Amino acid sequence: MYFKTEGVVLRETEYKDADKLLTVLSRDRGRLTLRARGVRSRSSKLKSGCQLLAFSEFTVFEGRGALTVDEAVPLELFLPLREDIELLSLASYFAQVAEVLSQEDAPNPELLSMCLNGFYALSKLNRPQKLVKAAFELRAACLAGYTPMLDSCIVCGNPAPDRFLVSGGVLQCAGCRQPEETSVRLPIHPGTLDAMRYLISCDTKRLFSFQLGQETLKELSDVTETYLLTQLERGFFTLDFYKSLQIT
Ligand SMILES: [Zn+2]
Repeated sequence: MYFKTEGVVLRETEYKDADKLLTVLSRDRGRLTLRARGVRSRSSKLKSGCQLLAFSEFTVFEGRGALTVDEAVPLELFLPLREDIELLSLASYFAQVAEVLSQEDAPNPELLSMCLNGFYALSKLNRPQKLVKAAFELRAACLAGYTPMLDSCIVCGNPAPDRFLVSGGVLQCAGCRQPEETSVRLPIHPGTLDAMRYLISCDTKRLFSFQLGQETLKELSDVTETYLLTQLERGFFTLDFYKSLQIT
């Protein structure tokens, strides 16, 4: 039997013959593994819609325990992402995070929307990379169930503390550390804290629509990255690659 669903290609793996296996975050069915037959041959009609990071309408044949792409109509290819190695690697990092957070048979409209809006912010709106990255990371942590508690210092209740505890996702004043505590604390300035408070509560559509100065943006990006990786207890090779491009 056949079904149709929209989805974004999070990963592509070469498979036997000229096939590929696609990991797709679909609107209706959560994460899917689709086989795209013959897609690596020059004349394949599936080529465009089955590319990494493409958002497409897939017609899928379901049979013999496998899902096979019958048709893939590209809806948005985010072309500027494919012409810039930094943007491509950052978007690939988002895709890898989305793959980790998504589940089969569990639609996740907010995650799909975050990916599409993130790709759009990078490719069409020319939003600063650090800003899009930080917003994506913090909201991804929230989606994974690790929404930080950003009201006040957990020790004294001060509403404007200056340290963020990475493992617990809570705030503290520099002077409120307990003698026995060893957890990693990152300095956090008021502008960074305001941005984080915005990011955990804003509408997904407004996730990438805020402004920050360069220094605050750097601090925010460091905090969100450390927090996401700590909470997920893993690294991402796409992130490592993206960061290797930043140094040169
Ligand atoms: Zn305090």
